[in-house]
Amino acid sequence: MSKERRIIEIAPGTMSPGGRMTDRIESRGHRCPYCQGNGYLWQEDEWQERYKKECPICKGSGRLDAVITIEWKAGSNS
Ligand SMILES: [Zn+2]
Repeated sequence: MSKERRIIEIAPGTMSPGGRMTDRIESRGHRCPYCQGNGYLWQEDEWQERYKKECPICKGSGRLDAVITIEWKAGSNS
């Protein structure tokens, strides 16, 4: 199993009054831990026949995308 380590630099870009106050960072292609990246899980029916059931976490893709939303807020005076 591999893990990705990323450094995210947080700095506000161009902003205008009434404009967008959020930034979005995406990190794609993480292996689904629930199905070990297979996209399915083995299940048994009432006759003990094994069949593949789509993973409910990654919806069969075996991968998860992380979406990180940064919300910019006015600083507080202190
Ligand atoms: Zn999965």
